[in-house]
Amino acid sequence: MDRALCIHGHFYQPPREDPWLGHILPEGSAAPSRHWNERICRESYTPMARARRLDGAGRIVELLNCYEWMSFNVGPTLLSWMARSAPETYARILEADKASLTRLGHGNALAQVYHHVILPLASQLDKELEVAWAVADFRARFGRAPEGMWLAETAVDTPTLEALAAAGIRFTILAPSQAEAVSDDGKSWQGVDAGSLDIRRPYKVPLPSGKPMAVFFYHGPLSQAVAFERLLADGEQFFRRLSGAAGQGLLSLATDGETYGHHFTFGEMALAYVLDQARSGRDGLALTNYAAFLEAEPPRRFARIREASAWSCAHGVERWRSDCGCTTGGHPGYNQKWRAPLRKALNLLKSRLDAHFFDVGKPLFVDPRKALVAYGEVMAASLAPEAFEAAHLAPKLPAAGRGTAWKLLSMQAWGLSSFASCAWFFDEISRLEPVNGLTFACRAMELARATGMADPEPEVTSILAEARSNEPEMGTGRDIWDNLVRPRRETPKTLVSQALLQLTLEDRLPPAGETAEAVWPGVAVAVRLDDPEDDARPGTARIRYSLETAVEELAVRYRPAQTADPFDGCLSLTAPGGPEEGFCLRDVGLPVNKRQSLADAFARHAEETAFAAMLSQAARARKLVTELQEAQTTINLAPLWLHLWPGLVWHDVFDLPLPEKRAALLRLFLLEAGRNSPVKAALEARLAAETARRAAEPDPDCRKLAALVKRAADLDLHPDWWAAQNALWERRPFAGCGGGMVELAKAMWFSV
Ligand SMILES: [Zn+2]
Repeated sequence: MDRALCIHGHFYQPPREDPWLGHILPEGSAAPSRHWNERICRESYTPMARARRLDGAGRIVELLNCYEWMSFNVGPTLLSWMARSAPETYARILEADKASLTRLGHGNALAQVYHHVILPLASQLDKELEVAWAVADFRARFGRAPEGMWLAETAVDTPTLEALAAAGIRFTILAPSQAEAVSDDGKSWQGVDAGSLDIRRPYKVPLPSGKPMAVFFYHGPLSQAVAFERLLADGEQFFRRLSGAAGQGLLSLATDGETYGHHFTFGEMALAYVLDQARSGRDGLALTNYAAFLEAEPPRRFARIREASAWSCAHGVERWRSDCGCTTGGHPGYNQKWRAPLRKALNLLKSRLDAHFFDVGKPLFVDPRKALVAYGEVMAASLAPEAFEAAHLAPKLPAAGRGTAWKLLSMQAWGLSSFASCAWFFDEISRLEPVNGLTFACRAMELARATGMADPEPEVTSILAEARSNEPEMGTGRDIWDNLVRPRRETPKTLVSQALLQLTLEDRLPPAGETAEAVWPGVAVAVRLDDPEDDARPGTARIRYSLETAVEELAVRYRPAQTADPFDGCLSLTAPGGPEEGFCLRDVGLPVNKRQSLADAFARHAEETAFAAMLSQAARARKLVTELQEAQTTINLAPLWLHLWPGLVWHDVFDLPLPEKRAALLRLFLLEAGRNSPVKAALEARLAAETARRAAEPDPDCRKLAALVKRAADLDLHPDWWAAQNALWERRPFAGCGGGMVELAKAMWFSV
């Protein structure tokens, strides 16, 4: 197979969920998005799934699903967020793997180490879990076994490759600098470096177990050029560079997924151009993926890897445990001496958790280790909790024992989550990533204490005290623990308070005797309030964490705020057998991002309510809109009618346009007063979303939608039709609706 080309994209975000709520809290640095998953998804992962290919006139020729034509891996924790929060993009990724499987006999998707843990630094148990859980997750999503696995930071050593091989993985991808020596016969070896290594074919890596393992090495300089040399600025230039470098065998590039779109705006369009040129066979190039190439050309030569090496550290894997000098830069005076104590503290915690798991788990599980491995299938939802219990819990275990067993499993998962590599990658311990890692550790500790372990916190935090932040006011790792990590801890008090605040703010407090639920992905709080006559409403609250069987039930008395400030509400809680504890919501001390989450939930609800009310007012008002008189929009009408304008436009666009002379008033208003107006921007976003929704309906009125697009332009409104274009693209070929679909496609900038 000559002139074969494979571009690999590594799509990854560290786990960001609050480990109690299972929900990503607002991250200020991700503005204008709510958090980084949302931001990178909007800028990169989603555009990649629907990259625009344009003709010379700037009209859309195709929406290319790049994932269908490139090799890729997406981290399990990112995919589980995407399945919930970006289902369209998620569906395109699964589709892409299926389409490539049909085309090449092997799917484009690779699995990825579950929590993006640096495997050479992980214990044998953790290696096995990270790989097994990744395989389980991959099988559940893609409906097939993974053939290749992406290693976090391509960090590798022989035990890591053994762990992959033991799980049935056939290959991985490494940087050319990670090859130490090559051999034709496995006996006489020749030393190599990144410059002298022949990367055109895969190699066999001899393993002590004798199991097969193949390694591909990517093209270093070209992969670097995509990231740092503006290759994505011009698709044609990018293609020529690739074509010039291709030759015998395989040319493969390994790139970070967020390069396309996030680091480089419209980078996905340059990539789409290249993929389109290559798939059409220009210059004799043939697009393939690693597994297909492996089948066509099984490795004949051998390679020895550089033990404990990675693609993003010149010092082995020191970047994830010492002050090796590798950082992302930006803060010249900073040091990374904090990395060592952070690693040491988390290693110590995990070793304590492991001992506790096997000790307490011995009578609870048939085989604790097998149960822990199989827990990956429960997290992937391919094994029902009941089936897991039947297979792995000791027979006839009482409810308390089952509750403990599930808590132990969850404890181990959070313990592993704390090792996500990003905590060490950057230059400062008080950043979001290390704080998240420590928060996962905090959650694991809580579950450890709840299942009877001696509190590991003093020991762990005394090691953290050895870590110094580069920001003097942040102090040591222990200060960061006390000030940034511990305040995030949820208790029944904070959970029930947040649930009641949310229900109050969304007008969902239940009537007497009924139950309402505040649900986060990780935990649900069900509240029942009994006596409506009593203004300190008594009732119960039930807390249940997902993937746990234990339910915590508390008696509550809730007195909603008598003022406009919901934090003036008061609550008292009584746990079974415990004393009653009364407090005001203001004194619960929720951290800022949890308060912001509540505020956002309220703002969403309030905006929906206000918009609906305004629409009904505007429906009446539109009957009264008069013909345009001079200066009306700026003098007498503007201030008075301002809040009705979005509703008037909405009815005009979606229902019945006003006669021309009266519509002139709307247009003039939008032209004059609407320029740079946030009200207009919000209206455009709403129009775009509603149009996309209608275009995705089973039987859309295409002519009406086409008229709507035109009408919006007439009114000087310019919604982003991205989502509507995507919905329409799903319906191609553009026939149907009696020709109305062609009309709509033209209106939406398709070349038809
Ligand atoms: Zn380094």
